[in-house]
Amino acid sequence: MAKQPAIARTVPALRRAIAAWRQAGETIALVPTMGALHVGHLALVREAHKRAQRVVVSIFVNPTQFAPHEDFGSYPRTFEADRSALAAAKADLIWAPTAAVMYPQGFATRIAPEGAALAGLEDKFRPHFFGGVCTVVAKLFLQVAPDVALFGQKDYQQLCVVTQMAKDLDLPLKVVGIPTVREKDGLALSSRNAYLSAEERAVAPTLYRALKTSAARIKKGEPIGRVLDDGRAEIAMAGFALDYLEARYALTLAPLASSQDGPIRLLVAAKIGKTRLIDNLGV
Ligand code: AMP
Repeated sequence: MAKQPAIARTVPALRRAIAAWRQAGETIALVPTMGALHVGHLALVREAHKRAQRVVVSIFVNPTQFAPHEDFGSYPRTFEADRSALAAAKADLIWAPTAAVMYPQGFATRIAPEGAALAGLEDKFRPHFFGGVCTVVAKLFLQVAPDVALFGQKDYQQLCVVTQMAKDLDLPLKVVGIPTVREKDGLALSSRNAYLSAEERAVAPTLYRALKTSAARIKKGEPIGRVLDDGRAEIAMAGFALDYLEARYALTLAPLASSQDGPIRLLVAAKIGKTRLIDNLGV
């Protein structure tokens, strides 16, 4: 049986483990997650091992990034399975605070990101989201004090926002983005895929197909407006309620002034039934 990673549930316990590694001169990588781990998360853990001697995986379903009508209560929580997966992936420590540890009574501070966090993409549909993400990620960075933190490109706007926050706040670590891990049919792995019915699962890869087709057409020089309209129609035809399909500057997520300027990132969010899926692709 693989060695079980240690589990820290309080800040002092976490700091003791981290301090021991630092005293031994070891480097530390952090992989922040909300649990319900899948192969995409484990790809981050694998990359973390290449970049540091110790790997901390945080598991925390962060209440401050969910709006009251969103799925905080029903978000999948699979701690025992996550622990086994992290043992097999040779993570050194699971940082699993309760909400009361992360946000003790009287907690009164929130980070308010701008720039990519106000791009009119996820922020338009989830106005709570990036403030909650930045607040918890800043706390995780300060709690763990890693040399490197790994995030998935799957949540591309989040990666841009967190990278900017680390830069703006002079946080002494490197934020690294890891390519999206997909199912064979192209669907991006996500903890929320567990919500999909068989019928919804069958049409879910439409999002990636539309991204791929759109990226190829834009690369060939077709007008971006027309390409996106076709992509939007394809996604709607498949039965999704589309939130957005947009082409943006990959680095800032600002709207494009001209198709000549790059690099371009396509980003999509859409609901199938009750499940909201997001994806993105570089052109
Ligand atoms: P989550 O648990 O959904 O908050 O995700 C934790 C981290 O895993 C985030 O940095 C995500 O971007 C990343 N992640 C989620 N799904 C994937 C995937 N399919 N491929 C790569 N990274 C992913």
